[in-house]
Amino acid sequence: MININNISSAYGRVNLIGEHTDYNGGLVFPTLIPEKTTVQLTLSPSHSHSSSYLVSANSNNDTISYLLGEEKNCSHWSDYLKGVTKILREENFNIFGYNININIESNLPMGSGLSSSAALIVALFRAMVNAFHLNLSDIDIAKLGQRVENEFVGARVGIMDPMVISVAQNPGQALFIDTKSLCYQTIDIPDSLEILVINSGISHSNRSGGYLKRREECEEAAKILNTTYLSDLNLQNLSEYKRLLFSQQSTTSSNAETLFKRVRHVLSENDRVLKLKDAFINLAASSSSLNLIKDLFASSHLSMKNDYEVSIPEIDRLVELVSSEPHIHGARLTGGGFGGSVVALVEKGYKEIAYKNILSKQQQL
Ligand code: ADP
Ligand code: MG
Repeated sequence: MININNISSAYGRVNLIGEHTDYNGGLVFPTLIPEKTTVQLTLSPSHSHSSSYLVSANSNNDTISYLLGEEKNCSHWSDYLKGVTKILREENFNIFGYNININIESNLPMGSGLSSSAALIVALFRAMVNAFHLNLSDIDIAKLGQRVENEFVGARVGIMDPMVISVAQNPGQALFIDTKSLCYQTIDIPDSLEILVINSGISHSNRSGGYLKRREECEEAAKILNTTYLSDLNLQNLSEYKRLLFSQQSTTSSNAETLFKRVRHVLSENDRVLKLKDAFINLAASSSSLNLIKDLFASSHLSMKNDYEVSIPEIDRLVELVSSEPHIHGARLTGGGFGGSVVALVEKGYKEIAYKNILSKQQQL
């Protein structure tokens, strides 16, 4: 029996560390945040005798509609919905027989590095799974969610966002994920720390520009270094990789330097993910882990700024400002970069006051 009316939701996420490593087969360490996207899905019998079913959707008072089976990308927010229905059809799931009405509500900012896109996709997959009783696991949803962005929306994002959003259960839980094997471990945020997210208000896009360029640079470096994934290389062998990149005939020296910096970011970032995960686990037993955590956040930000070159001056200033606030134990750019948000760890009990101080100082920037 079809479920005619149901509500499904998905939390946004913030990445604690492990940036631009997912599409390089590396490690990531994201956590859910309390802000979420909710999809109310209502099915109504189709009155037409043809087999064309209407999908209509509303978000922020913007209404769209399209016919199931006629999904076309039009660089619009509805691409995320069309991608979901198209991929379900392609995978031969029976989602026919009804007109589908979708009402979307969200308190996640869009384009702010908190993955409103994956939250929308996962919430809709969940709603479709419930409505049509589809046999899809959380990991299946994560994989199909990535395909929606890659194949339909045209954003070549990695698996991190749909994976953590589909698999993790609650805010306060972080997921240590090996993006190559999709093995993961659930790690609690240490009791003494809270997560603070500061939205810079500068939005980014994963469909074009720098994000795409970085992916291409990693692919070029991987080809020269004869590996499928940069993350399969070894941080200890960086000088050898540098030699190989610079000796490659087709790369100019400035290009070789750029490719080397991208490789160094990916390998050092994977190492920082492992160290942060261990520091979280050890924090209750060893207070020195707190210094290590702060250092890891700082070096991750510097690597994104200098080696991966995805930060911007406004974000650098914000990270500096947040880091200098008392009770903050690390701050860095989170998400793909070129805008977005800063993630910080703050001593428990000081989140509100730290946030207020940061906002008032931010207005003076
Ligand atoms: P992020 O995932 O970091 O928020 P993206 O650029 O990947 O940024 O995705 C943002 C895009 O996702 C928006 O521009 C919009 O097209 C779509 N989107 C996300 N949430 C919603 C929503 N609640 N309603 C409509 N579109 C949404
Ligand atoms: Mg996104």
